[in-house]
Amino acid sequence: MVFDPCRVHFFASLNVKAAGENTSEPPVPGLRAEWLDGVDPVRPAPLHLKHKQGDVFMNNPNPPIIYSPIGHCIYCGSTEGDFSKEHIIPLGLGGNFILPKASCPACGTITGEVERFCLKLMYGPLRNRLKLPTRHKKERSDNLPLELRKPDGSKEFKIIPSENFPAIAMGFNFPAPGILRNIKPNEACEGTLIAHYIDAELQEYMKTEGLRVKLGSISILIFCQMLAKIAHSFAIANLGEKAFHPLLSDLILGKSITPQYLVGGDVSAILPEQKNVLHDIFLQNCLSNGIEYTLVGIRLFAFMGMPRYHVVVGEKL
Ligand SMILES: [Zn+2]
Repeated sequence: MVFDPCRVHFFASLNVKAAGENTSEPPVPGLRAEWLDGVDPVRPAPLHLKHKQGDVFMNNPNPPIIYSPIGHCIYCGSTEGDFSKEHIIPLGLGGNFILPKASCPACGTITGEVERFCLKLMYGPLRNRLKLPTRHKKERSDNLPLELRKPDGSKEFKIIPSENFPAIAMGFNFPAPGILRNIKPNEACEGTLIAHYIDAELQEYMKTEGLRVKLGSISILIFCQMLAKIAHSFAIANLGEKAFHPLLSDLILGKSITPQYLVGGDVSAILPEQKNVLHDIFLQNCLSNGIEYTLVGIRLFAFMGMPRYHVVVGEKL
């Protein structure tokens, strides 16, 4: 399969629905619809970043990496009961890094809901197109409805065979995590929505003046929750729990509505596409204001030129 990523760096003509807007999803605290009008990313002062470990690439179909079992919950700390294995990057995104015996049922329910939202509403057609795994094969349909919105606001649905459905990757150009910029935790959502698609099909539907195409549904908070879970489990799998004082548990478990304090973007450069790399994840040390943090870099759908995220998992011990 040859991918030729086209890019949409604007969203004025694209209809991106916020979670909670005319949908059955509950309104998400911390997500502000007016954010969709765009806020310039804040460029932080230069950070002192140094690489500690090399990049770890995950190219499917690599053999799975199975880490040492944990034996308690890495999110809430519970030591009683059964613990299930964690796919560090969700299985539905092709993740094959596995951390055995690492999540209690209660935390698994929360992280499962978060992943379902992102996998289905943000990445559903893309996953279908890339033939990424699913736990719900019966939900895969041969045809998918593409929602179009006419200038007068009326909706139209085109039913398209799923193998031809425009495959769109959505992400955000975030500013660096607030904690690295000396900004107190707050609910503001800053960033620019990025949507890349893998062929010119989408343009077919956008030829009509004023017609808008629905790309999917987003929630910055829920997306950051998913990134936080990926980063936290990846750091523990590779460094162990004694290497850092964890900061992400509240965000992962839905107890924090200040996602961009710890989850941000890599503002150092515009990254080229990484050929044949599905996702890219690595650990970094980061020094800010005299405190050394452990940071995880995550780039989902790297071959499509999507942004990289920087997630501060904790203070280094
Ligand atoms: Zn737990």
